[in-house]
Amino acid sequence: MDIEQENRRLQRLVEQQSRTLDAILSVSPDPIFMSGTDGRIVYVGSSALELLGLPLEEVIGRRWQDFGLSAEIMAPFQAHREEVGRTGIAFKGEMPFPTPSGLRYFEYTLIPVPGEDGGFPYVVTNARDITVRKQAEDRLLKLNRALLVTRNCTRTIVDAEKESGLLQQVCDVIVSEGGYRFAWAGYAEHDDRRTVRPVAASGHADGYLDTLRMSWSEGQERGRGPGGNAVRSGRPVIVRDIRTDALVGPWREEALLRGYESLIALPLSAAGESYGVLVIYATGPDAFDPEEAGLLEELADEIAHGIRTLRGDDERERLEEQLAQARKMEAVGRLAGGIAHDFNNLLTTINGYAALMLQGLSNDGPLRPQAMAILQAGERAASLTRQLLAFSRRQLLHPQTIDLNVVIDRMIGTLQRLIGDDVDLVIRFAPEPCLVLADPVQIEQVVMNLAVNARDAMPRGGRLSLATLNLAPGEGNFPALPPELASKACGLLVISDTGIGMTAEILSHAFEPFFTTKDTVEGTGLGLSTVYGIVRQSGGIVRADSAPDRGTTFEIFFPASDATASMPARPGQENISSPPEVSGGAETILVVDDSETVRGLVCEILMQAGYTVFNAGDPEEATATCELRGNSVDLLVTDVVMPGMTGVELAARLLKSFPGMKVVYISGYTGDAIVDEGFLDPGCTFLQKPFAPDTLLEAVRKALDE
Ligand code: ADP
Repeated sequence: MDIEQENRRLQRLVEQQSRTLDAILSVSPDPIFMSGTDGRIVYVGSSALELLGLPLEEVIGRRWQDFGLSAEIMAPFQAHREEVGRTGIAFKGEMPFPTPSGLRYFEYTLIPVPGEDGGFPYVVTNARDITVRKQAEDRLLKLNRALLVTRNCTRTIVDAEKESGLLQQVCDVIVSEGGYRFAWAGYAEHDDRRTVRPVAASGHADGYLDTLRMSWSEGQERGRGPGGNAVRSGRPVIVRDIRTDALVGPWREEALLRGYESLIALPLSAAGESYGVLVIYATGPDAFDPEEAGLLEELADEIAHGIRTLRGDDERERLEEQLAQARKMEAVGRLAGGIAHDFNNLLTTINGYAALMLQGLSNDGPLRPQAMAILQAGERAASLTRQLLAFSRRQLLHPQTIDLNVVIDRMIGTLQRLIGDDVDLVIRFAPEPCLVLADPVQIEQVVMNLAVNARDAMPRGGRLSLATLNLAPGEGNFPALPPELASKACGLLVISDTGIGMTAEILSHAFEPFFTTKDTVEGTGLGLSTVYGIVRQSGGIVRADSAPDRGTTFEIFFPASDATASMPARPGQENISSPPEVSGGAETILVVDDSETVRGLVCEILMQAGYTVFNAGDPEEATATCELRGNSVDLLVTDVVMPGMTGVELAARLLKSFPGMKVVYISGYTGDAIVDEGFLDPGCTFLQKPFAPDTLLEAVRKALDE
């Protein structure tokens, strides 16, 4: 009886304790369970029932695996639960838990319950919903990585010196600091397909870019993806799940293969127009939340701004380089012009006296070969000096309206012989006449020099292409007009080869006189400098584009002429070696030149031919001598550039006293003033030093007879 009473009391006590426990546990917001060694649930709190959404009787006696949770989620939990039952040591862990209203996260504590025999037959699980904390942490983590990326990229942008490297560094930072799986950046090209051309990439690519073939054209399937949309709209495009988003259709398979599950495409824009895109891929869907996307959008703006600044810097640098180059050419040109001028005086004397000597030596005289050698060396020196003069833009030009088409057409035979059989000659003429104001002989020289270089650059054959083109003033031309000629209509001559090309270093020196990469026999280094001088003197611009093994293209722009083409025969070129028959005369000639040796030579040539000659060292002396002598002067042979007064002014003065007087000008170069002021009208007689005795006699006779 006593025992029965005692049992009932204990029973009530246990029930009371259980109700007390229930009452306590019912106010706990944490879901609580207790399970036995067989894994069956023996106790469940009211919050736990709410979480499972089941009544008590459907929970008690069942095992965890009966609730349809995935093995992936349950396996670690169960392992820990078993360990706690075995060791009696409590454990804390975290697990995701899918519910009908979305994924939640729980932190659970496993508490061992001791049994009578010293074992732990039950384990209590106290779970706490940490979803909010977890989400905040996750957001913080993402923000943090975006911030880290932004900070490091900003540093990269500030430090960047070249655009080419900047995007690569940005992609590197995005992957290494941000922990994103892959990032690439590309430019929106304006080709037919509107290609988005990748220029930098970092991370787990595994050939992904080769499969990309992205476009930004709305008319193409591969233009309607995230990248194309971002470029067109100028707004970021987020793909939350690559598995399901329709936008990534053509790329889905390749992307998933490489573990990309979500992405953000950020436009790179300047002045309201997108010129490229930066695409970042992450593992896991939904990797880019709005705050992170906002930060990355700011980053893309900063990158675009950085690129804009760098492009400005590059442009400035390019202009500065151009200016420095132009100044260098100007200085070298002045130097070369000065040297050529002095040499021409010297060579007039050397070659002139050598020629006179030859005339006086018998055909089999022992000194004849030596005098011949002097004359030949002098002629070679004169030819080099002429090229220097051309470079320094002080050559005598005979500009006239010419059709570049006709000039080139006439040269086809010569060019073909020059380049040989291994090189194809391809010519494309402008459909309309290509009229420019230039000296046709000099333009031929330009084409020849460029063709010789092209041939030398293609020892194993290739293609030499020539093209003429009419360009309208202003923008919109291809190729674009050089800034100096932007407001003018231009005739363009393009000469390109498929030869060895030039490095940037060689290209930067190519137009300098005496710069050559050929061995000395072949190259004088004067070919391109002559081209440069002729083109510049004709008011044109020459541009060269080249890269090693990629051939070379020269573009020569001439201001267009609106006159109709006129190509009369040019006045005869002076020719030392084959003198025409010339006769002297008995007229009176005044010779004025400030170089005593040249003056002496000219006088001697003229006197030998029978003329009455007197001379003066400068215009003042010339005037005084004329006044003193009082006799008439039939012809004046005068230097053009002299101290005090030019030859032109002297002639004008003397013409007042001797109205019938004829004039022959001689000069070491045509000074800029003479050319610019248009003094040398086609009618006047001009001899460029050095000249041969017979050339002088011929010019004199012709002038007198006119
Ligand atoms: P040269 O031909 O006597 O060397 P140039 O002034 O004509 O002198 O050319 C200077 C240098 O420019 C050449 O030695 C060569 O290195 C380079 N060059 C010129 N034209 C070409 C070309 N078409 N292809 C490759 N290199 C060229």
